[in-house]
Amino acid sequence: MRNVIIIGSGPAGLTAALYSARANLKPLVIEGLEAGGQLMLTTLVENFPGHRDGIMGPELMAEMRAQAEHFGAEIIRGHVTSVDLLARPYTVKTSEAEYQCRTLIVATGASARLLGLPSERALLGHGVSTCATCDGYFFRGKPIAVVGGGDSAMEEAVFLTRFASHVTVVHRRDTLRASKIMQDKALANEKISFEWNADVEEIRDTGKGEVTSMVLRNNRTNELKEIPVDGVFVAIGHTPNTKLFQGQIDMDPNGYVVTHAGTRTSMPGVFACGDVQDHVYRQAITAAGSGCMAAIDAEKYLEGLPQHLGEAQVTA
Ligand code: NAP
Repeated sequence: MRNVIIIGSGPAGLTAALYSARANLKPLVIEGLEAGGQLMLTTLVENFPGHRDGIMGPELMAEMRAQAEHFGAEIIRGHVTSVDLLARPYTVKTSEAEYQCRTLIVATGASARLLGLPSERALLGHGVSTCATCDGYFFRGKPIAVVGGGDSAMEEAVFLTRFASHVTVVHRRDTLRASKIMQDKALANEKISFEWNADVEEIRDTGKGEVTSMVLRNNRTNELKEIPVDGVFVAIGHTPNTKLFQGQIDMDPNGYVVTHAGTRTSMPGVFACGDVQDHVYRQAITAAGSGCMAAIDAEKYLEGLPQHLGEAQVTA
């Protein structure tokens, strides 16, 4: 029986682990398939406070992990296969073991959707990015591309014109999905041009380990076209990692966990933090902040549990 189980080991999960460990709650962190979260896919992180010269994403996550362990968090490899939140105590199963807990912190994150090209995967963090706020600054004075036709793509394209010499938006259809106001902003921006009905065929140059161009295929004519760019921002949406909790805690229509009064979910004793409940800010620092909140909320919840009652009787 654990006081706190944390599912996920990105900035939200590891900050929740740090705070709950320092509150002497002996948290168990189940790190998941993508241990360390999205920062493991980035290179230099320049916007995490306290690192004047920036820090590499994987190094930042290794530091967070070591700090949580230093204060007594137990972090195990493993992938949660099911959770049962309908009976107390809550049950969390991995392929190797089964755990029970009084409180659960959901920090499973959201995965940026990718195009699925081998060259995209190979150059992720080396010119291919899924976060304009994080990486736009690296492309000062350079031509870049944004892939996607939704609000995120338009927002990122407009934002990136602050840095880039030119932004090419690559969209697979000839009409945008984005809201009219976002479309108008992007279409009116003279630093932005559009490639319509275009599928990304390849991002070059995996041999050099940096982005030098992208090859587009017009999906109407099959014509190929190579565009020189130094960066490619893939903005085709995010998928929250919430399959495990479907039907057990409230989610919004896009599958993000709904939180209220801090990090509380619809199930008492279950808290959510980081990108799994945030489709707006999506930053390491905001995820870490909400991880801290989840640990404090869990601690307050545990303080209110009648210790002398058997677990089956706990209904708070
Ligand atoms: P989205 O609305 O789902 O748009 C995704 C875009 O990527 C679509 O244009 C889609 O093309 C394209 N796409 C998807 N899979 C693709 C693939 N495999 N290859 C090529 N293109 C692909 O996602 P989003 O833009 O991230 O927005 C998510 C939600 O957040 C939306 O509700 C949006 O309104 C909201 N949002 C709002 C703001 C704002 O108001 N400031 C900013 C960002 C996001 P198709 O159009 O052909 O499907």
